[in-house]
Amino acid sequence: MSSPATPPLPLREDLEGLEPYGAPQLDVPVRLNVNENPYPPSDAVVADIARAVEEAARGLNRYPDRDAPELRAALADYLAVESGVRVDPSLVWAANGSNEVMVQLLQAFGGPGRTVVGFAPTYSMYHEYARDTNTRWVQGQRGDRFALDLDEVERVLRAERPSVVLLASPNNPTGTSLEAPDLRRVLDLARDLGPQVAGTRRAAVVVVDEAYGEFRREGVPSALELLAGNPHLVVSRTMSKAFGMAGLRLGYLATAREIVDALMLVRLPYHLSATTQATALAALRHREELMAQIAGLRGERDRLAAWLRGRGLEVADSDANFVLFGTFADRRAVFHALLDRGVLIRVVGPEGWLRVSVGTPEEMEAFRVALDDVAARQS
Ligand code: PMP
Repeated sequence: MSSPATPPLPLREDLEGLEPYGAPQLDVPVRLNVNENPYPPSDAVVADIARAVEEAARGLNRYPDRDAPELRAALADYLAVESGVRVDPSLVWAANGSNEVMVQLLQAFGGPGRTVVGFAPTYSMYHEYARDTNTRWVQGQRGDRFALDLDEVERVLRAERPSVVLLASPNNPTGTSLEAPDLRRVLDLARDLGPQVAGTRRAAVVVVDEAYGEFRREGVPSALELLAGNPHLVVSRTMSKAFGMAGLRLGYLATAREIVDALMLVRLPYHLSATTQATALAALRHREELMAQIAGLRGERDRLAAWLRGRGLEVADSDANFVLFGTFADRRAVFHALLDRGVLIRVVGPEGWLRVSVGTPEEMEAFRVALDDVAARQS
């Protein structure tokens, strides 16, 4: 007996015909396309992680600690050392990458009939977090040199009354940091221009995504300094970038009690595996060693920006571990010519611009040689 024909599946209409997100994962000699830390963990870190995972494996018949208190305390200690701001461990929240942290925020504060705003150019995943949580995504524009334009922020907030404002600082793909007075102003606006919910006016939640926070230049403050007095502020961080643990998938945030309580409602039970928690804790025990790399990467970034400017190119000021540079009449041609020479960068940002991540000194030299070669052939 032949089985009856199955009608098409009820995929959500807004997902029909879409392609999955993803930067190419190509096996080329020089990979400078997803802002990873180029340095693998040292033998000492690897050995400590191996011991910690072995220990965790002995208890894998049990569900992991649901609220990860030990890990949250270690992350709070790290933030205190890194930024000078001490946050109570119960006000730190962790999930599988800051991607998951931000989806959880939108699960709790976004949803049908609600709006999340960002300012372009910015991280391309934001509109996917919005889409996946059925939240409306509205994008304003950044101003001169990719800085936040406060008039534009006020205009968009007044018009949209968003539940959530998503700001990356340093911003991806531009590298631009938010100035402290600008963030203060955004927080004031968000306090007054949030949505009406059940007949009462609410503050908008302001998420400052500091995925690249550790790379900020001397004197640029972290938004963590504004947590006190701003119960509608969330500062999101990750172990993927400066900490060199992109493969671990550990993101976290610091915020106020009411927001952590809301996240605990929407997170999946036992969302952070026992091995993830053990690995992150082991890595955090080596925080000094891992943080020591950051100065070198910052120096390499500044050298790269100066070199690009020396070649007559425009370069956005960067507080991150990547640089946006341009502009090119045909950026795809430059991207492919570099790829032909074994150097993978990223076509992202406004038309004409390209983004390159900061690698080891050897990788940066390979990038410079390849770009010079491409330029020589085009001229
Ligand atoms: N925010 C920004 C601005 C990013 O660029 C990235 C990664 N490219 C993320 C968040 C996500 O990082 P992860 O999920 O690895 O923590």
